[in-house]
Amino acid sequence: GLRPLIAGNWKMHGTLREAASLAEGVRAGAAGLKAEILVCPPFPYIHVVAVAMLGQPVAVGGQDCHLAAKGAHTGDVAAPMLRDCGATYVILGHSERRADHGETDAVVKAKAAAAIAAGLTPVVCVGETLAQREAGQAETVVRAQVGGSLPEGFAAAGGVVAYEPVWAIGTGRTPTEADIAAIHGALRETVGGATRLLYGGSVKPGNAAAILALPHVDGALVGGASLVAEDFLAIARAA
Ligand code: 13P
Repeated sequence: GLRPLIAGNWKMHGTLREAASLAEGVRAGAAGLKAEILVCPPFPYIHVVAVAMLGQPVAVGGQDCHLAAKGAHTGDVAAPMLRDCGATYVILGHSERRADHGETDAVVKAKAAAAIAAGLTPVVCVGETLAQREAGQAETVVRAQVGGSLPEGFAAAGGVVAYEPVWAIGTGRTPTEADIAAIHGALRETVGGATRLLYGGSVKPGNAAAILALPHVDGALVGGASLVAEDFLAIARAA
């Protein structure tokens, strides 16, 4: 089977000091886990966290990258820069970026190609809105997002897909286990057997074991609970 991946998306939270402290907390509990562990700090903290994780079984990732390798793009960060700062993964197409920055499937696909070219493993996020779920379109929407967001060579590069229903992010609400299993089953048909499929959206220590035991759930993408080292490690131990 696929080695589980437990990824923490720190989003736009914390000070530099708090990032260093959280990294140390995660590092201290990361040895000997079955799951692979990934933390994705805000850009300014990536290098400090990557240095703290040198030689440790914790990978570091960005939360976005530009689709160009360099250029006149004020405020953006290129995939080779993330790699240079010690990142080996990058989250792409998170629903917050799709909403806040208008990222389309085509943009996410180009970013994922740029990430792969730079030696980063992309974690591409998909997920339906509440309106889409209530209209019975969840599976159609995520299949279309996956179809449009994954570049050539994605599976060969070890690319990861994260299913994050928009309405479950930061809300304390999760789909039923049957609904998660149904979407992950559909995604498995779409991406094949080599691609890890993460679930994200209100994953906590209390629900992690049940979610991670579902078929075709190969890990979790954790937001809020990844900001507390003990909670994040408890989720990692449930994998
Ligand atoms: P929460 O775990 O806070 O719901 O966030 C999920 C998420 O968006 C991870 O990328």
